[in-house]
Amino acid sequence: MNISTQRLQAVKADIEKALTKRGTQHIVNQDGHVTLVAVSKTQSADKVREAYQAGQTAFGENYLQEALNKQVALADLAIEWHFIGPIQSNKTQPIAQHFSWVHGVDRLKVAQRLNDARPAALHPLQICLQVNISGESTKSGIAPDALAELVKTVSTLPKLKLRGLMSIPEPTDDEALQRQQFQQMRHLLNALVKQGYAMDTLSMGMSGDYQIAIEEGATIVRIGSAIFGARPAKITLEDPH
Ligand SMILES: *Cc1c(COP(=O)(O)O)cnc(C)c1O
Repeated sequence: MNISTQRLQAVKADIEKALTKRGTQHIVNQDGHVTLVAVSKTQSADKVREAYQAGQTAFGENYLQEALNKQVALADLAIEWHFIGPIQSNKTQPIAQHFSWVHGVDRLKVAQRLNDARPAALHPLQICLQVNISGESTKSGIAPDALAELVKTVSTLPKLKLRGLMSIPEPTDDEALQRQQFQQMRHLLNALVKQGYAMDTLSMGMSGDYQIAIEEGATIVRIGSAIFGARPAKITLEDPH
């Protein structure tokens, strides 16, 4: 077994362990299931293929061109592709055409453009709205108090399926603070469900905090370095807007 496969198995075991520690009142979806999205940004197509052969089917990518190249190289595999990076509005068309899920939607303009560009022959594009839960001014994401308004409009777009909320909380070693931010996300989702929105997804938890995220109700964890190892530093950062 190669090293990524070993790490993948270890992450899966940790996910199962976290599930046993999760309180039943923290379950926000019907079957209580957690989906692992393996974050393969900066990793080669061969690495993705290896993980796929070890049973991993959902992969997350941040950089559009890199992702499209990998999709071509891996077209023979039944991969479910998740776009998890910042979305520039001039790139909504290829994103709407080539992904099953988009996690980082944080404004109406982007949602509308994704909706307009989603091919009618495909199932609706699965969407999570990114919430700026830690209130950092540098971070993308909609402010919690503006969320209800965005949900109201996005939920009416016919070629999108609004599944839930996504966040990238402030990195911290303070477990109580991590837990509190994930809890806030759960409360936001629960409030929307109470208002009648059929949302069932909390996309939260990365390599450093996924166990706590799951205990607090995550239904999708996005994990990169814990599976593939440390990433090389990205030299050119794409402008988020
Ligand atoms: C890179 C990235 C991840 C994975 O981060 P790791 O710490 O490597 O697990 C998850 N979500 C988003 C949005 C990312 O950009």
